Amino acid sequence: MANEKLKKTLAEFEADNRLPHAVIIEGGDADTRAEFADDLAAWAVCTGENKPCGECKNCINAAAHSHSDIYFAKGAGKTDIYNKDEVEHIIRDASIKPNQAQRKVYIFAECDKRLPPISQNALLKTLEEPVQDVLFIITCENSKSMLETVRSRCVTLTLEDTGEVDEKALESARKIVLGIIAPNEMPLMKALYELTDRFAAIDALGVTVRLLRDGLVLYCGGAPELDAETADRLCSSLSKSAFLRLIEITQDAQTKINNNVGLKLIGAWLCGEYRRTLWQR
Ligand SMILES: [Zn+2]
Repeated sequence: MANEKLKKTLAEFEADNRLPHAVIIEGGDADTRAEFADDLAAWAVCTGENKPCGECKNCINAAAHSHSDIYFAKGAGKTDIYNKDEVEHIIRDASIKPNQAQRKVYIFAECDKRLPPISQNALLKTLEEPVQDVLFIITCENSKSMLETVRSRCVTLTLEDTGEVDEKALESARKIVLGIIAPNEMPLMKALYELTDRFAAIDALGVTVRLLRDGLVLYCGGAPELDAETADRLCSSLSKSAFLRLIEITQDAQTKINNNVGLKLIGAWLCGEYRRTLWQR
């Protein structure tokens, strides 16, 4: 089991006999989320005691990713987007009875990057009027990147953060935050225009938020967790309200990426908003 605390939550669901029909798994890293989604799917189909038992036929098939009632959404195109057609296909499939288990499970992985709003809306009706014996599992880095209407109809399980950060994303994020406080806007523009890949941009902006939070924590007298040196440099240039505003701007940019706004446009917007915040301090 990826996370013992969550295992307890699942046991509580079962004890109350209230199996959720849609679960969002957020937090942790992508591998842990995928692992927990597997565990959750096995738990949903398991026929043994102390689910997932790992020994019944359902568990064994689930572990081998060969269970006929557990379906991994496939995604299309270069970026593996779950398009509206696929979601609609899955909804139709969900109304057909399970093959071998009590329940059918559909897994949508890494949805902050792969499940655009149009597909989330397609899924919404099913979440509003759930089909019996079906469990939808959505994994994402941050459930806030999902539409509020979708989020409110799912049970959100938050994995503990492993604290691991992608080195490349950290490097890009450092360039961005140090660009914000640089004497002129060139370093910031350069850092933002280097984000030419959508996935890399999502990761870099996620770490940017963490670096800014680190700075804010240090500003308020706490200990930064990711990068003390960068936090220190930010603290000498930014006020508390500037930190809060910069975090907000970065999160807005994350939403824009998720809504498929072009990266060049977002870069230009970010550069303007970041620098404006610095002048206003
Ligand atoms: Zn089992």
